[in-house]
Amino acid sequence: MPIAENIARIREQIDAAARESGRSGRDIALVGASKMNDAAACREAAAAGIDALGENRVQEMVKKQAEHAYDGVPLHFIGHLQRNKVHKVVGQVSLIQSAGSEALLRDIDKAAESLNLVQDVLLEVNIAGETAKSGFAPELLPAAGELALSLPHVRVLGLMAIPPADASPAETRRYFDKVRTLYVDMAGNLFHNSLIYLSMGMSGDFEDAVRAGATMVRVGSSIFGARHYDT
Ligand SMILES: *Cc1c(COP(=O)(O)O)cnc(C)c1O
Repeated sequence: MPIAENIARIREQIDAAARESGRSGRDIALVGASKMNDAAACREAAAAGIDALGENRVQEMVKKQAEHAYDGVPLHFIGHLQRNKVHKVVGQVSLIQSAGSEALLRDIDKAAESLNLVQDVLLEVNIAGETAKSGFAPELLPAAGELALSLPHVRVLGLMAIPPADASPAETRRYFDKVRTLYVDMAGNLFHNSLIYLSMGMSGDFEDAVRAGATMVRVGSSIFGARHYDT
């Protein structure tokens, strides 16, 4: 599997898109979304210098951790996190990108407190108000930020968003712009410019996300190949 070549190509594309907005590819973290790819594929991506790997499912993450899939590379949790699985993720990953409810923030804080650590998180924004998707509605984001600031074992480093899968490229760009505006507002108003990650963009749209100001993209199939859902 040409994982290293794929990563190199994506880095070039990220760099080109970043330069359009006066940045460089070095300003953008590339996270490999490694769901449904085995430990060997994860290690290959790590050896090729991916900035982090992101997993969606707790069970799969725990299994692959035991197989040393993520040795030497930061691990992120990027999927929907059920409250009863919080304790399996807190302290195991360097970043939870999908903190999308106040209850979850409180649970993360509690689990982190019991481990005597501070868990870095991103607040997930449900930018299109999709009922089936988790994440904070844009208008609830300031309150979520205030809550997070009051929790001593949670540290917010930014925002994460996933526009609707069926949105057109033009619609997706508008969603990216909206998330970017929320990010800038939050950074300025509540977090005194301590936010560093605006995580948006996947295989089909990471260049547009970078043009819109993403500082972190999550790319799966363009790195690892198409996922096979029949297994
Ligand atoms: C799978 C996944 C991605 C990557 O999707 P691709 O289209 O394969 O690049 C990004 N973010 C999240 C949260 C994902 O679950």
